[in-house]
Amino acid sequence: MKITVRLGDSLWYYSQLFNIPVILIETSNPGINALQIQVGQEIKIPGYLRENYTIEPNDTFWTLAIENNIPLDLIELMNSTIDSSQLQVGQTIYLPRRVTEFVIDDIANYTYERMVTDINKLLSIYPFIMKRSIGSSVMGKDITELQIGAGPTEVHLNGSFHANEWITTPIIMRFINEYALSLTNGLPINDLATLPMYQATLFSAVPMVNPDGVNLVIQGASAAGDYSNSVLAINQQSQDFSGWKANINGVDLNNQFPALWEIEADRKPTIPQPRDFPGTAPLTEPEAIAMANLAEERNFRRMNAFHTQGKVIFWGFEGLEPPESAEIVNEYERVSGYTPIQYVDSYAGYKDWFIQEFRRPGFTVELGEGVNPLPIEQFQEIYEDSLGIMLANLYL
Ligand SMILES: [Zn+2]
Repeated sequence: MKITVRLGDSLWYYSQLFNIPVILIETSNPGINALQIQVGQEIKIPGYLRENYTIEPNDTFWTLAIENNIPLDLIELMNSTIDSSQLQVGQTIYLPRRVTEFVIDDIANYTYERMVTDINKLLSIYPFIMKRSIGSSVMGKDITELQIGAGPTEVHLNGSFHANEWITTPIIMRFINEYALSLTNGLPINDLATLPMYQATLFSAVPMVNPDGVNLVIQGASAAGDYSNSVLAINQQSQDFSGWKANINGVDLNNQFPALWEIEADRKPTIPQPRDFPGTAPLTEPEAIAMANLAEERNFRRMNAFHTQGKVIFWGFEGLEPPESAEIVNEYERVSGYTPIQYVDSYAGYKDWFIQEFRRPGFTVELGEGVNPLPIEQFQEIYEDSLGIMLANLYL
């Protein structure tokens, strides 16, 4: 919601008036000088929507403030062009509504377009969430990164490297929504206060690394556009893409990283496949390149890649993982019940490369249990398990 600055206003005053932490107002308005806001300037207030209200007999700003349990001056601020002594029955004024519900609530068939719609909803209510494009998929879809936080410790989480594991995307989106709700309403998550997390960390998320693949699994070959003939050929002319993990070129993005890639190239398919083809060389695919560049450009202290399934957490690579990885994975196990596995006969994944390249903790988290794509009925259980892991990244 936007308001217009009056003489004498300050962000600190708005923080009191709206009962929103001042740091959230500051980070919702990155272009402005917080100490010198100007009369007439527009300021975004996170966590609120502006609603129309029609004046009824005997309404005054005073009675409306009491009935809505909000400060009188908040109503005056939102209606600064209205003469409150001359209210007319039937006249429309503005009232604030604090957002206390999730905007991300429909997580079935969570296509790329559905994610984009939800991101836009989140950004309009929570302008302190930052969005940027880190690259484009083969078909030209933006690969989107979201950032939340004002602190120096960067932690990164991604989902849907594998197309038929797309349930990981709404898991991450729901968490971002819950985090934002918690911050603006001062409500803890799992008994943990989140504002200190916001002040200490910068949480980076790429909820859908492989948008072309996700849409192919959910919508079928028609979603592949110019690639529909080639994906049908790769898929042996089957219209059932539920086993598809790769990107739209038939390259497995989690086999694309230069971390013992040659081992996978020697034993995996040598032509495009629904899964497991590591490409003709490391980092040939734009989605993998974007993810590698992201990690190179930033300073992620820790990385989680969300996959499905198995309720296990892979946390090592060739002994290159730092000692703290063991402590972190023990905390993940405690909060999720998932089983840590240090080494596995699998290479060239993003986690492998992240550990090798930066010697920092990287984890592949296998959410849920069953056959991919996991049934959406598992969403709540998976969310509750993974919530503790996502939170642990912000306090540990
Ligand atoms: Zn996977």
